[in-house]
Amino acid sequence: MSSIICPKCGKDTKKLYGNVCKECYLKKLTLLQLPLVLHLKICATCGAHFDRGKWKDTTDLDDIIIEKVNNELMVHEDAEDIDLYIEPIKKSPYIYNIRVKVDATVYGDPIHEEVNTEIRLDREACDICSRIAGGYFEAIVQIRGTGRTPDANEKKKCMQITNDVLIQMENKGDRLAFVSHTIDSKDGIDLYIGSANTGRHLCKTIKTEIGGSFSESPTLFGQKEGKEIYRVTFAMRLPQYTSGEIIYTGGRTVEVKTCGKNVKGIDLVTGSRFLAKLEDVEDAERLGMVHDASMAVLVTVEDDTIMVLHPSTYQTVTIQRPLFLESKAGEEIPVLANEHGLVVIPKKDYDKY
Ligand SMILES: [Zn+2]
Ligand SMILES: [Zn+2]
Repeated sequence: MSSIICPKCGKDTKKLYGNVCKECYLKKLTLLQLPLVLHLKICATCGAHFDRGKWKDTTDLDDIIIEKVNNELMVHEDAEDIDLYIEPIKKSPYIYNIRVKVDATVYGDPIHEEVNTEIRLDREACDICSRIAGGYFEAIVQIRGTGRTPDANEKKKCMQITNDVLIQMENKGDRLAFVSHTIDSKDGIDLYIGSANTGRHLCKTIKTEIGGSFSESPTLFGQKEGKEIYRVTFAMRLPQYTSGEIIYTGGRTVEVKTCGKNVKGIDLVTGSRFLAKLEDVEDAERLGMVHDASMAVLVTVEDDTIMVLHPSTYQTVTIQRPLFLESKAGEEIPVLANEHGLVVIPKKDYDKY
């Protein structure tokens, strides 16, 4: 095999690499190409970053920076067995120095190279944060009672469920899972929600956890990029009776546990379980809530009856001994005095509310 002379250094060589010998070739080779400054758009409010035309959630900024550098750098096409090391060094809240080291082999020879670049974080408002700021919503969830107004406890519970659902939907990737506006009135709560899907999921979750029912009605409110945009109103009806409510129906005083198509609870006179179809107890009289009970002294406990000191008249009242009663004479127990008599409230329920 005849040798060739390198036109650059004049040495004999067996093969030319891009018109020069291997040594000359490797000397002038640029293994890494990277812009001196890179820009990364970051949302000033939520920290989301802009990547390939889209805003995305940021979990770890260092990872995003490394990915950005990785996407922007060019390694020479002749390099093999590439081993990259990218180290971001925070210089200020918005400027990172990046050190990039690469080890590779080119035509069998190991090469090491280092380059530096800088990433500048440009603070902007992401699509979602600008929508929240603009009061954007796709759904209104109207939480109301059935034949009554929701009480403070129920409203609190609904808001807790809302927070949980928002986190859950956000984790599932719904970036519109936000509430842009809340109206708390005596009729209930109105929630203006970024995505209809999250609104629907919220109603389903309230239905599972508290009970009740909901309906949805979409209204066309405009067009965007040729697509029709709907806003959906969800009418969420909380159950007629809430958990812990005391009702009087068919001669029985009942503490409601759950209310769906059926009403389940405890008969407070006997202590036995109560179960009825909602339609059969729809007209029940509302006596109050478990937390409306007052404490009364339990005077005596017999097999079937007990004597209680009435909390307002201080007269002793003899009533049936409910099955759930575990207290002993001399102790205080929660009772609810009402026009149908005096009933004992299970202590564990009273303590719960
Ligand atoms: Zn040469
Ligand atoms: Zn944002």
